Amino acid sequence: MQLRYNFRLYPTPGQRAALARAFGCARVVFNEGLQARLEARAAGLPYITDAELSARLTAAKAIPERAWLGEVSAVVLQQALADLNAAYRNFFASVKGARKGPKVGPPRFRSRKDHRQAIRFTRNARFSVTLGGKLRLPKIGDIPVRWSRRLPSAPSSVAVIMDSAGRYFASFVVETDPDVLPEAEPMIGIDLGLTHFVVLSDGRKVASPRFLRRAENKLKRRQRDLSRKQKGSRNRDKARVKVARAHARVADARREFHHQLSTALIRENQAVAVEDLAVTGLARTHLAKSVHDAGWSAFVHMLEYKARRYGREFIRIGRFEPTSRVCSACGAKDGPKPLYIRTWQCQSCGAWLDRDVNAAVNVARAAGLAVSACGAQVRPEVIPAQRGEAGTHLKPRREAA
Ligand SMILES: [Zn+2]
Repeated sequence: MQLRYNFRLYPTPGQRAALARAFGCARVVFNEGLQARLEARAAGLPYITDAELSARLTAAKAIPERAWLGEVSAVVLQQALADLNAAYRNFFASVKGARKGPKVGPPRFRSRKDHRQAIRFTRNARFSVTLGGKLRLPKIGDIPVRWSRRLPSAPSSVAVIMDSAGRYFASFVVETDPDVLPEAEPMIGIDLGLTHFVVLSDGRKVASPRFLRRAENKLKRRQRDLSRKQKGSRNRDKARVKVARAHARVADARREFHHQLSTALIRENQAVAVEDLAVTGLARTHLAKSVHDAGWSAFVHMLEYKARRYGREFIRIGRFEPTSRVCSACGAKDGPKPLYIRTWQCQSCGAWLDRDVNAAVNVARAAGLAVSACGAQVRPEVIPAQRGEAGTHLKPRREAA
């Protein structure tokens, strides 16, 4: 299976200029390929094949006005076309309904203002790691890397990315065998909580950690500052850079939280079931913002690949299962309940149920997992639960406040 390893890069000013050129050339190649296909389509001509686009690129490099394309590794340009072709394939598969996950739109033009600029080198570009631990890229140079862990084997490709905060990263793709963990007993259903990030079928609730909430608050403050600054002023530029950095910190903190939580859940449990929220389907509801902000789909994706990596079972159940309407103790359908109702009593068996945990138990059941309904049952006198005391914490405690 393929794994990604990301490391921070510290290019010199000269290397940054070379990278900027490479980002620019890759963008031009991508956009011109897209343009050619759109024009062919508008003119009623057949779809331009991958091979034809590649041949046009080779021909373009021979034109004197386009000689600057030769200043960049040829592999980077081929990979830009490969990205375009992959974007088309995903779009076609999505239209046919042959693709899992949310719907994908047609490819869009890339812009220098995009928040993320990226180029990719495959092995035949002869990128390498020098003895001194630098990343050697053709026509760019030897870039210093901050290695935070070891690569388990030689990478098959590396993407160089610049984010909106102006930071550079190398993302290596490494082929490894699954690292199957000894079998574990527990199975678990996970529900996206409304007041917590996730709620588990065993009754535990996990909120976003404090370090993430702090980063988010800081971002909000920076955005407010930015909106107060006058357009075109130098102070506004400075504020915009601060917002971009705060954004990057929130994204990092969130990813870190998702990694820790998904690793803990996959290690503890033999099987993990989640509800497929099909996030795009929620885009028109008031839930959308909180769902997107909480990064649910990124988290679910991590669970999925870690399950594969560690030999665990991962199950996604359809989003039309009425997980919040069914009593997990007796199976009675109790009808829809408004969101403010946190606990309810089943009209047929009399059990008092925690709305979120009940849903998590139902997710596990719908996935065919044998879980107990005990976690979902509450005693009416504990309502309303105090913030922070509503559930037990996943270890380490610091992560789940
Ligand atoms: Zn019941």
